[in-house]
Amino acid sequence: MKRVLITGAAGFLGSHLCDRFIRESYEVIGMDNLLTGDLKNIEHLFPLKNFEFYHHDVSTFVHVPGNLDYILHFASPASPIDYLKMPIQTLKVGSLGTHNLLGLAKSKEARILVASTSEVYGDPSVHPQPEEYWGNVNPVGPRGVYDEAKRFQEAITMAYHNYHGLETRIVRIFNTYGPRMRLNDGRALPAFMSQAILGEDITVFGDGSQTRSFCYVDDLIEGIYRLLLSDYASPMNIGNPSEITIKEFAEEIIALTGSHQKIVYEPLPVNDPKQRRPDITKAREILDWEPKVDRKEGLARTLDYFKQALKGEKS
Ligand code: UDP
Repeated sequence: MKRVLITGAAGFLGSHLCDRFIRESYEVIGMDNLLTGDLKNIEHLFPLKNFEFYHHDVSTFVHVPGNLDYILHFASPASPIDYLKMPIQTLKVGSLGTHNLLGLAKSKEARILVASTSEVYGDPSVHPQPEEYWGNVNPVGPRGVYDEAKRFQEAITMAYHNYHGLETRIVRIFNTYGPRMRLNDGRALPAFMSQAILGEDITVFGDGSQTRSFCYVDDLIEGIYRLLLSDYASPMNIGNPSEITIKEFAEEIIALTGSHQKIVYEPLPVNDPKQRRPDITKAREILDWEPKVDRKEGLARTLDYFKQALKGEKS
């Protein structure tokens, strides 16, 4: 049985990765400091013999007994309000945490995949964004703590690859949505869905003309799985190129929930990217991957989850 360590295991993406590797019959070690993760996302795995959980902050020395085949580093605050609230932890997990895990990978002779982000492109002046684009990031702006931590993560990962010959993979994740997103993480989808279900005004920031391209979580996990098993060591975009303005996105969610909430406009956060869309030519060619779940289907599945989760919060 192959053994995989997944950091950020109790988070949105980490928990879906745990499920996927359990399904593929791996022995899975989940690690999380539960800063933004939630044990509810993985409690169904606790009875399994091939699942173990370590409550640990990867920004400090990481020890895992036994062999490891793969490490997937998905620990980090990941929503803008989280990393504004926890700027130092965000910088540490992307930098020191990544360094610790690269060291662990080297000592175990394991392959490591790190979760990078479309935020490395900042407020992009090239559209859509191919992997060759170097980005437009304000290092000292409020988002800099996340963007620069992830850019450092990419740099140190490539250094371990080039200098130590470590097997590394870097996925640049674009906006992803689906069950297990935190209801109050402040991102557009959780905000709009919760507001629509609870009968509150829908808060669009700015004039809503900024764009994003939303990928359903199952598609993303499939792309990451294929990237890990590929032999491609340079950064790769995984995301859904279907682009939409935030105002249209809010309108789609209002229509889907059948609510009649009105949109209210609030100030645009500082350095909020004006446009974002992945160029996924590489993922198509190298991984034979592309997203399969369209927004209508993905939003419907996510709405079911949000309705249940909001009910759970009330009871
Ligand atoms: N946004 C919004 N209303 C909200 C939350 C977010 O209009 O209640 C906007 C945000 O300003 C950004 C877009 O939606 O332009 C996507 O934001 P999110 O936080 O989901 O992710 P980002 O892509 O900015 O990291």
